[in-house]
Amino acid sequence: MAIIVHKYGGTSVGTPEKIKQVARRVKGVRDKGNEVVVIVSAMGHTTDELIDLMHQVTSDSDPREYDMLVSTGEQVSAALLAMALQDIGCPAVSLTGGQAGVVTEDIYKKARIKDVKLDRIKGGLKEGKVVVITGFQGVDSKGDIITIGRGGSDTSAVAIAAALKAEVCDIYTDVDGVYTTDPRIVPTARKLKYISYEEMLELASLGAQVLHPRSVECASIYNMVIHLRSSLKEDEGTYIMSPERIEESLDSSSTELGVARDKEAAKMEKKEAVRGIALDENIAKIGILKVPDKPGIAAKIFGALAAHKINVDMIVQSIHSAGTQADMAFTVDRPDLKKAFEVAKKVAKELDAVDVVSDADVSKVSLVGIGMVSQPGTASRMFEALAAEKINIQMISTSEIKISCVIKAEQGKKAVQILHKAFGLEKVA
Ligand code: ADP
Ligand code: ASP
Ligand code: MG
Repeated sequence: MAIIVHKYGGTSVGTPEKIKQVARRVKGVRDKGNEVVVIVSAMGHTTDELIDLMHQVTSDSDPREYDMLVSTGEQVSAALLAMALQDIGCPAVSLTGGQAGVVTEDIYKKARIKDVKLDRIKGGLKEGKVVVITGFQGVDSKGDIITIGRGGSDTSAVAIAAALKAEVCDIYTDVDGVYTTDPRIVPTARKLKYISYEEMLELASLGAQVLHPRSVECASIYNMVIHLRSSLKEDEGTYIMSPERIEESLDSSSTELGVARDKEAAKMEKKEAVRGIALDENIAKIGILKVPDKPGIAAKIFGALAAHKINVDMIVQSIHSAGTQADMAFTVDRPDLKKAFEVAKKVAKELDAVDVVSDADVSKVSLVGIGMVSQPGTASRMFEALAAEKINIQMISTSEIKISCVIKAEQGKKAVQILHKAFGLEKVA
């Protein structure tokens, strides 16, 4: 008997009708003799609505109460799905993350999952039930409910699938796979058949919302295949797996014409320098102007930010012509801007910097692809394409498999569209 793990995102359980649809799909899988575990997100935009409610009672919420509040959305969908399953004659039980044995670090709002104790899940399966589990949450060592970061249900699903030693984690969502970029921004984006953990992790970390970055990280640690697919169709989606497994899939002998053609397309994809483009519209920029240019300054600034648990992404330091002062610019997640600005101002004063400025009106556009390593010139092509559309680049950062540029927020989507075209990523007609 195989263990099958499904995850359904917010849109996929957004209405009672959709929940019933999910129940029918899940029952179908169980009726084939499988043991089924389902991880669910909150219905539709419930989590955003809960956060909205929070803002109506406080401007500075206690992190513990934040977790108590936002974790409730998933309980609603889990219980409703269990009921919908029972209603069509499929035994089912819903469990919260804590009840399901998901243990997290003792950090509110963005904890990592440390362990999944399987007794309760296995007990439910043994009783012949479909086990429905709330995504996005677990419990800490004190027994407090902890959430694991926005979009975290993907990570809950992969962690539970890995603990259960399932072969694949099926993540059902409102798109039918991973595309070369967000199809809502570029309707001609091309669906990828396979993508490596490394590339997917970069895309997800750089703002492609389609998967929670830590779910990809967790899958790569356990060599678990993620199959990202549509909750509305039966078709295959995109497989996220190791390059070795991708190679095996491409080489496995099949004479079926459609499959052969797919393989050719996938092999072509492997040669492309750029595999995908991500847009992060959730960043902000801070500049500390004219700090003394001497050892220890960066350590002070970024040490203070780290002490306040503020994640810093890009960092650029530029030298003033006199050579005794430098400007520091860096980006943070937009929700952290207020805090980061306060910390930066305090440190700047201590360091005798001339001024601190902030700008929330920025976005980051990134190209990702393992092939970049062996194909020089990708960066200059990117800069030329942006320049041709008069898009000014404010900051640049590169690694072996990605190039990111910070630009004006209002030009973000346009930048993705022109880069998608410039690198020939459209689907072939
Ligand atoms: P769920 O609620 O199922 O977790 P999300 O809204 O978190 O779904 O993620 C799915 C969305 O991710 C899609 O609707 C799509 O607009 C967006 N997206 C961003 N980048 C990509 C990409 N490269 N490929 C596919 N979808 C993407
Ligand atoms: N409901 C949570 C959120 O909206 C978790 C998730 O959907 O993955 O962030
Ligand atoms: Mg999601």
